[in-house]
Amino acid sequence: MKKLLALILSLTLTISLSACGGKSEADIIPDDKYMNTYEIFVYSFCDSDGDGIGDLDGVTSKLDYIKNLGFNAIWLTPICPSTTYHKYDVTDYENVDKNFGSLESYDNLIKEAHNKGIKVIDDFVMNHTSSEHPWFKTAVRYLKGLSKDEEPDESKCKYINYYNFSREKKDGYEQVPGADWYYEARFWSGMPDLNLDNEEVKKEFADIAKFWIDHGCDGFRMDALTSYTTDDTNKSVEELADFVKSAKEIKPDLYIVGEAWANKDTYAKYYASGIDSLFDFDFAGQDGLIAGLARGTKPAKTFAETMQKEEELYKSYSDTFVNAPFYTNHDMSRGAGYYTDEDKTKLALGLNFMQTGNAFLYYGEELGMKGSGSKDENKRGPMYWSADENAVGMCKGPSAMDKIEQKYPAEDEQEKDDTSIYSYVKKVLKLRNNYPLIARGKTTALSDISSKTIAAFTRTKDGSNYDFSTVKNADKLSDLLIVINTGNAEETIDLSKSGVSMNKVADTVTTSGSAISTVGGGNTLIVPPYSITVLK
Ligand code: CA
Repeated sequence: MKKLLALILSLTLTISLSACGGKSEADIIPDDKYMNTYEIFVYSFCDSDGDGIGDLDGVTSKLDYIKNLGFNAIWLTPICPSTTYHKYDVTDYENVDKNFGSLESYDNLIKEAHNKGIKVIDDFVMNHTSSEHPWFKTAVRYLKGLSKDEEPDESKCKYINYYNFSREKKDGYEQVPGADWYYEARFWSGMPDLNLDNEEVKKEFADIAKFWIDHGCDGFRMDALTSYTTDDTNKSVEELADFVKSAKEIKPDLYIVGEAWANKDTYAKYYASGIDSLFDFDFAGQDGLIAGLARGTKPAKTFAETMQKEEELYKSYSDTFVNAPFYTNHDMSRGAGYYTDEDKTKLALGLNFMQTGNAFLYYGEELGMKGSGSKDENKRGPMYWSADENAVGMCKGPSAMDKIEQKYPAEDEQEKDDTSIYSYVKKVLKLRNNYPLIARGKTTALSDISSKTIAAFTRTKDGSNYDFSTVKNADKLSDLLIVINTGNAEETIDLSKSGVSMNKVADTVTTSGSAISTVGGGNTLIVPPYSITVLK
């Protein structure tokens, strides 16, 4: 009798699990650019050899962790030799900084990542070099050797035209130490800006791209696009276009995403370069749309309306755009500090993954790690694997960072807790992976059932710029209705006003745990507080 009961129980469990929408559509989706990408600040992520500095072998050791969360790509902040911990000042573009490992450790990371179905995106710092780069040092040595009235001769030193040197001090220029010359350095005197109009410089970076592509990298994240030619967007777009063209000649399916830290109308223009993706700055950071929605200072309905408008805007520049939503990055204060409560911290992460395209998450956000203030170092603290600073993999973090009191438990505790931020992120990524139209469909805002706290929109094949003809059994992919409740109370929605036919709840993710959305009589949908519901 007991056995029979157990059998019935297990059968019921199996049936109810599949009825809950656990069945995945993801297996019919191809390898494409609509990824979930985990940003790794290498210095602070995972230390493999006990020196307290994160390294590539450390990253390799955490690939299962990353995959298990639901990611299928990583972006590594710069790994080339450099004078700083952040390594955005490169001294040698074709090597790995010795603190991070070697080219062999890079090759091994690529091999292991590809074995696990994870793509690797390298940071590509083309706007400037380090002032310690041999190109710059050679140019400076040459300039110092000139007599007072002698004009520089490019045929004697080609590197003088790799940078922007001037006899006059201009805005954004620094003096060459020990010479009556100035050079453009917008970020810092240690980072001289390159002259990206120079054909020789273009050739150098095409060669550097080939070097890393030959080592197996799948994509590049282009740093500092708006500074390519400062205050000249059109020219910067052209310079980017030249690079995109030459890199894609080497590897046609290379994925390229760009950082153009500007307002939407400006960063959208960079899509004209042929780049795949641009970071969606409008939604990110403490003043972005996501934080506004989570705080309740912006009405939920603007989420879908903004996405819909944005898709139209991007499409006006590129037929093949892939949006790149993100919530925070290594230049922004971490999300947990934006709110006092955990529900909002979670919901904001959920909203990030309900945007289309290749969605990025900054390491540690899945734990609600803290890190903010005027120092960039605070935003790049040690990944909180454990409360024990001496646990395996723990990094010491940048030397200038402040001591940060963490608000939520470490990874080793959160992974055991089904209600943790970690578990929430995992559930949202599973939802995103199970329903491919979340990332790939066209957004249509449903104003009639949206409100201050409800964001309702469809994601459909029709109208999307995704090429569904490349997908086997694309007809089996469901068009979706997504309903997000950003408020702290249950809400009832009259689906008959939606004008769309999707009315079967496929899945629900809430910030608190297991509540699910239901469709009751008269086509009314009841959604729990702080929830994301997908209907088919
Ligand atoms: Ca190390």
